Amino acid sequence: MIFRTRFAPSPTGPLHLGHAYSAMVAYELAALHNGEFLLRIEDIDQGRARPKWEAQIFDDLKWLGLCWPEPVLRQSTRQEGYASALDALWQRDLLYPCVCTRRDIQAAASAPQEGAPLHGPDGLIYPGTCRARKGTSSDPTPRPHGQNLRLDMSDAAAVIYNRSEFWEGGTGPKGESGQITFAAEDLLRDVGDIVLARKDMATSYHLSVVLDDAAQGITDVVRGQDLFDATQIHVLLQRLLYLPTPRYHHHALIRDETGKRLAKRDDSRAISLYRSEGATPADIRRLVGLERLDWLG
Ligand code: GLU
Repeated sequence: MIFRTRFAPSPTGPLHLGHAYSAMVAYELAALHNGEFLLRIEDIDQGRARPKWEAQIFDDLKWLGLCWPEPVLRQSTRQEGYASALDALWQRDLLYPCVCTRRDIQAAASAPQEGAPLHGPDGLIYPGTCRARKGTSSDPTPRPHGQNLRLDMSDAAAVIYNRSEFWEGGTGPKGESGQITFAAEDLLRDVGDIVLARKDMATSYHLSVVLDDAAQGITDVVRGQDLFDATQIHVLLQRLLYLPTPRYHHHALIRDETGKRLAKRDDSRAISLYRSEGATPADIRRLVGLERLDWLG
């Protein structure tokens, strides 16, 4: 099977050094395996995505010397696929509507009897307030729209029969690599009932990324270590939706001098700014330490 990877930026800000590093690592890994490199625009958050950022991303990546097949996939064109996956999960009683605000969740999760609130890959772990709204297929109702829909993790995690795994070809934040195993109880404790359809976008990052990787035949996901903890969610969704699990290659994050990871709003690291100051693509490679590809193993 041909090695196929992708770089999947969200056009909600300028491409900065961290994104450039991620794109170049994916590109070079594909080249090393005689594979394919795809670009996917993750623009489900239409409130924040902007055509000007998308245009700048294309321009900066081309300037860095990357190329990819056209047309690129935009998540904003994939609503039908996301809706049918949600319908399937709804019909299996794995989703429930949630009306809690961030503040409700904060209050419930930090109630004195609950102990210190726990954080998962999506922030505070949901305390389960709306789980009682869950229907049953003996009383089928159509899937609600315009509301947050959460995954009932205790029923969902049952599909992995105790444990599941994925292959890590890079390293997780604690040096994890090789065969990574996780258990249903890890998902319950560390992830909880995550939102799979947000009321404002009718999907979520986790659902879209899993469906799009499968639709594009991605065999190898190359991305930053900040998404390592989300990978168990992605593998669970692949099991629930009968999709293949790609190999994963998480890479270290580019940090500033104080050790903080670069954020989208960190415009001082924008590639466009380096370009306007006369930097060359070779300068950018040096800045992110890409003379060394030793993490590839
Ligand atoms: N769109 C995500 C981001 O910009 C990347 C998702 C992924 O690589 O799985 O952080």
